Order: sequence, then C-alpha cells, then structure tokens
Amino acid sequence: MKVDKGVGSYMISVNNTEFLHEPIRDHVISSEKVAHVQVGNNCEHALLVLTKTGYSAIPVLDHEYRLRGLLSMGMITESILGMERIEYERLSDMKVDELMQTDLPIVRIDTEFRKVFDLLINHPFLCVEDEEGMFAGIMTRRVLMKKLKKAVYTMPR
Ligand code: AMP
Repeated sequence: MKVDKGVGSYMISVNNTEFLHEPIRDHVISSEKVAHVQVGNNCEHALLVLTKTGYSAIPVLDHEYRLRGLLSMGMITESILGMERIEYERLSDMKVDELMQTDLPIVRIDTEFRKVFDLLINHPFLCVEDEEGMFAGIMTRRVLMKKLKKAVYTMPR
C-alpha cells in the first residue's frame, strides 16, 4: 500500500489483511436492529419509516422474514411525481411491492470480507441472509470502513 507523506512517499507491505478472509458474521447489523417494511405495507408507511430513520433505503421483508426487495426514498418520490406537484395522496394506495427493487446483491452470513469489499464499492449496504435463506441483517460500508481503518492504523510503520 502506498502512503503519501506529503514530501515523497513510501511503500508499506500490508501484512494486516487477514480480516479479508474472515466471515462477516460478527459484523452484520442484526435483523432486529434493521429498520424495514413488509410486503403489503403501503408506501405512505414506508415514507414515514424512511423519513423517521433518516436511511436512504430499507429492506422489504415478507411475513416469514425473507428478503423480497429494497425500497428507497428516491423510488417513492419518483413514483409520485406529477406534472406540477408531488402527489403525496397517492401513497396510501400504493404497495411497497409495486415499487421495490428486486435485483439486488445478497450475501450469505459466512461470506468473507474480501467478497463484500468489492460489492460495497457500489452499494452503501448489503443485505445478508443466514444458512436457511432468512434475512439475517445488513453489512454496511461504514462497518467495513471501520474494519479497514483498524487494519491500516495497526500496520507496522
Ligand atoms: P451507514 O453506513 O450507517 O451510513 O448506512 C448506510 C445505509 O445502510 C443507510 O442509508 C441505510 O440505507 C442502511 N442502513 C444502515 N443501518 C440501518 C438500519 N439499522 N436499518 C435499516 N437500514 C440501515
């Protein structure tokens, strides 16, 4: 890894990357702590959850706690854009299932950090499933950055 020291630079051999081969299991934000909506909920409820939590996107789960999709604030506002105004009144008749994104990357709880590293470049968080295919929680870019920071700061000088 190349570290810029202002004047010139030097090379550090990174021998502290073992975590890349660790499973993400212990770093997943567990499902009970993840704000979500359920299949069948209306979009007014989803907008409330997104606004109250301040998250840009949340998972959509079914009644068996399986992941069905992802819903973002952008998807909701886009769907109610009228010619001259945002038509909020339409939200109560729209179901989250109609709007949610269904083609999303899903990782297993035993996936190595190395794999989520690649995916988190393009996604702020990833949905995680357990061995039975149930929603286990999410892995966020923030968690990965913390892990990476620790590895960088404990590198030998
Ligand atoms: P963060 O890395 O904490 O900024 O989170 C990035 C994104 O992950 C947020 O914008 C949310 O879409 C999602 N996220 C993080 N934590 C939660 C949570 N507890 N419940 C639902 N979504 C979350």
